[in-house]
Amino acid sequence: MLIVQKFGGTSVGSVDRMRNVAQRCIAAQQAGHQVAVVVSAMSGETNRLLGLARQVHDDVNDREVDVIIATGEQVSVGLVALAIRAAGGKARSFLGHQVKIVTDSAFSRARIVSIDAEPLRECFASGEIAVIAGFQGVDEHGNITTLGRGGSDTTGVAIAAALKADVCEIYTDVDGVYTTDPNVVPSARKIDRISYEEMLELASLGAKVLQLRSVEMGMKFGVPIHVRSSFSESEGTWVVPEDSKMEAIAVSGVTVARDEAKITVEDLPDTHGIAWRIFAALADASIVVDMIVQNQAYDGTVDLTFTVPSLDHKRSMETLIAQVPDLVGRAGERIKADNDICKVSVVGVGMRSHAGVAKRMFELLAQENINIQLISTSEIKISCIIARKYAELAVRVLHDGFGLAGA
Ligand code: ADP
Ligand code: ASP
Ligand code: MG
Repeated sequence: MLIVQKFGGTSVGSVDRMRNVAQRCIAAQQAGHQVAVVVSAMSGETNRLLGLARQVHDDVNDREVDVIIATGEQVSVGLVALAIRAAGGKARSFLGHQVKIVTDSAFSRARIVSIDAEPLRECFASGEIAVIAGFQGVDEHGNITTLGRGGSDTTGVAIAAALKADVCEIYTDVDGVYTTDPNVVPSARKIDRISYEEMLELASLGAKVLQLRSVEMGMKFGVPIHVRSSFSESEGTWVVPEDSKMEAIAVSGVTVARDEAKITVEDLPDTHGIAWRIFAALADASIVVDMIVQNQAYDGTVDLTFTVPSLDHKRSMETLIAQVPDLVGRAGERIKADNDICKVSVVGVGMRSHAGVAKRMFELLAQENINIQLISTSEIKISCIIARKYAELAVRVLHDGFGLAGA
């Protein structure tokens, strides 16, 4: 078999842990497999580097910031390759540009365009383990780029897709994907198998165990993903195509995202082209909008409410004041912004065939006196915006209320 093993920050968090990683890779090779290893920076390192960059300059979407934060993974690949050699194995390290992980030029959130698997095949042919830096790539001009926080997951799955690997193993500090974050809700249960679609929703709604793009890539190229612990041998969670058994349960997971802010523009004229102008202004400023709700009043006005990433919340208001002052008021007096919100969601493919999931979710929140500010749904998820102070309470109540808690 051809196996890609991706090790996250905690799994390579110390020299001892890197020795453990080396043992795992060597064991897989000795079992007869070809092994490519993708590693993250040591835990805390990317934050430290980002902190240094921010001391000098605010804008994180900058070419030089990527030059700085990509170094964490460079240290890790060197050390892991050395650890494999020290343990008697053969290994070679690769940085993003050496495997030719070519990306677009969107610094800090680049997307992979292509990968040249040839250097890795040469490495396998000479009996070596390929140790590849996660998170980083190179654009067509030779600039170093990074793939967004958690991006080593995406490197792992992308390498697996390029090599047509049999599996991409994601080694992390929990032993699989749980019904909710096990570090927040101790009664969370490990899920044995989950569909790509559900995992996509969980990842996009706040479960950081896999980066969203890694799941998109796995789904697109049919890479089976096995999320498991680097500290034990136990079977983790398989992310695979949906099967009929998965529909039996209505809700498979609960998530919370704390990084959004809510903006309302009141008393807009009830006529065509208004939403277009507002969202064109935001799109031109590269602000990604998540939920959108519009309410038509009977007096000829509408209120428009939407959510944006918390980090963009001030910039969104400034953009609207600058671009559409006739709609929001010259001083933004028709804008109301709230940065103290969070989004709780329940996810499950079973929702398609089970009635009453929304009713139950609203009932559970109401019983705790939690007010729902916005609601949005898709075929397999329901999300509610609530005050941020209720985030943990809401997750616990929904998790228990939908019967997800373990024995
Ligand atoms: P790594 O450094 O290995 O990439 P991350 O910190 O990015 O690890 O992701 C693992 C963490 O994801 C866990 O420690 C856990 O707190 C968090 N997490 C959030 N939601 C979930 C979930 N539903 N299942 C498992 N882990 C989750
Ligand atoms: N080191 C990067 C981060 O902390 C990438 C990763 O760990 O996946 O976001
Ligand atoms: Mg991660």
